[in-house]
Amino acid sequence: MTEDIMEMTRLCSACYKMCRDNCSVAGATRKESDAPQNRAFFAEGVMKNKRELTPEIVDYFYRCSLCGGCREACETGQDTGEIMLNARRDLDEERLPNRLKELKEKIVTNKLYGNDSKKVKELLLNQVEKKSAKTLIYFGKRVRAEGADTVIALFSLLNKLNVDFAVLDDDLDTGHLLYFLGFTTDATSVAKDFAEKIASEKKANPSLETLIIVTADDLRMINKTFPTLGVDIKDIDIVSLPEFLLKILKDKKPSFESFKKGSAKKITYHDPCGLGREMRIFEAPREIIKMVNGSEFVELPFSKDRAPCCGYGMGLSYIHPEVTSKMAERILSIGSMTDADTMVMGCSTCRDVVLENIPKDTKSTKNKRIDIVDLPIFLDRIVK
Ligand code: SF4
Ligand code: SF4
Repeated sequence: MTEDIMEMTRLCSACYKMCRDNCSVAGATRKESDAPQNRAFFAEGVMKNKRELTPEIVDYFYRCSLCGGCREACETGQDTGEIMLNARRDLDEERLPNRLKELKEKIVTNKLYGNDSKKVKELLLNQVEKKSAKTLIYFGKRVRAEGADTVIALFSLLNKLNVDFAVLDDDLDTGHLLYFLGFTTDATSVAKDFAEKIASEKKANPSLETLIIVTADDLRMINKTFPTLGVDIKDIDIVSLPEFLLKILKDKKPSFESFKKGSAKKITYHDPCGLGREMRIFEAPREIIKMVNGSEFVELPFSKDRAPCCGYGMGLSYIHPEVTSKMAERILSIGSMTDADTMVMGCSTCRDVVLENIPKDTKSTKNKRIDIVDLPIFLDRIVK
């Protein structure tokens, strides 16, 4: 640990818990032991050799979604997630929980998500002819394998809007999961491969101007973490999907299907941690939703800096799926506090995680049914 992180650990462990109510994990599990100050307290005990590094304490290092919620609520600007990330990095191989070792093995052997779905493969076959496009889209491995409806919707939407685009055809990773699970060396190597691939795409197609990043966590990795690893992507603009879609909609001015008079569709928006708190992209998706004729935008009671994590949590969903389920259900509960009938998620990963984890039988929950979509699916349904 660096001196800065040791000082942060000391401050957090002695704190009176200003950020507890903004912790996505503690808010969902309702366990005092999941509050940020307690994690830091355990880390400080280990750091000062006052506490044994037991498997139970190691487990706390991974019961954190690295969502940044504590940092936003902390009056002195500390970040318990950063302490947890450093604690993970410092663990010796033999201390790693078995679930984490298995997860790492799946990531490095490319077995975590499986292959592209059949529908996605069919769509990508046409891409060979689009090698002079100015815009290149990076979906990420998980979306291509498990989020086919997002890929199909974005293709359909961009085709309706006459946008010339290509899709990064290699099954590349940015290394975000490896990095946030604490495997910095492995993540750096993956990040370098990604940057080299983008450089070779630019060399093969000098008219390439913009790389669109579909998921919030890949965007956070490329824009915030790559520079800290000495990895640089040159001569190409990196743009988030919401910002790209907003620009296209402003340029093309499409017509939207109108919602019936007197039954205005009420639409709310969930801020993903990586897009909102990390990249400060709050307004572009809201502007998009407000463009739709006949709809009414409804702000969630916990939004922007105070938005909870969906539960994906940079690997949390693989290590503690039971915590992810509670976090996903909390997102649905927060949506149900409004009278919105549709919740647009700023990232496809958030949408998939929430849909996979909420109870299928909504009668068994107190939450009303709310349609959960991401931006490509939302827009493809209503752009004429
Ligand atoms: S992040 Fe701030 S409020 Fe939260 S435990 Fe640390 S010092 Fe306290
Ligand atoms: S980073 Fe998020 S989950 Fe982790 S302690 Fe902070 S608020 Fe809680």
